[in-house]
Amino acid sequence: MLYIIATPIGNLGDFSPRACAIIASCDYLLCEDTRRSGILLNHYSLKCPMKSFHAHNEKRMSERVIRDLQQGLTIGLLSDAGTPTLSDPGATLVALCHEHELTVSPIPGPCAALTALCASGLNPSRFQFLGFLPRRPGKAKKLLKESLDYPGTTIIYESPHRVKHTLTWLAELDPERCLVLARELTKKFESFTRGSAQDMATRYEQDSVLGECVILIAEK
Ligand code: SAM
Repeated sequence: MLYIIATPIGNLGDFSPRACAIIASCDYLLCEDTRRSGILLNHYSLKCPMKSFHAHNEKRMSERVIRDLQQGLTIGLLSDAGTPTLSDPGATLVALCHEHELTVSPIPGPCAALTALCASGLNPSRFQFLGFLPRRPGKAKKLLKESLDYPGTTIIYESPHRVKHTLTWLAELDPERCLVLARELTKKFESFTRGSAQDMATRYEQDSVLGECVILIAEK
């Protein structure tokens, strides 16, 4: 059995009792960063062997993991923060498990996209999730342009040093479009900032955007 175990996105208190019980039952854990997962395990006095599982070894490791699952081992998959596979490693492994008819079971918990959406004030009943924008500016702008026609809320993950560029591009494409910037969710300096794309681009041109962010684009 492979368990997909969601972990806190900033507040260690957001780890469920069920997630703790599942970890205690695992033969080993696949962790994006064993140090980060080690902090979580220590906090909950949990012990379980950890193996590194990240973007660079996912393919190679997956074959070994499939063999272990076929032997009947119980394995947990954890990312640094939030729900594994969502803009995080693990999707290839999960697809392979299904190919081999091995059971995959999710242990739900924090996810930055849905945490941001539910408190953003934007339409939560219809949304698209873009994850991280492509690295190349041309491709990123093209995707943003297309996303502006989506009849619902668009959710984007962004790294702190790229937020300004994305806000500037959005201001160029549709200056009046309402945006929400959700920052540092579940942490001490959590904030939701709302405004037109133009206002947001101007505001964050001056301010240094600190911490992790989710950008939400309102529907037209
Ligand atoms: N799998 C994770 C999830 O379920 O949310 C997302 C992992 S992805 C590598 C990291 C991105 O998620 C960050 O760049 C940011 O966009 C978003 N994120 C994660 N934690 C966040 C937080 N506490 N506040 C705001 N955004 C966060």
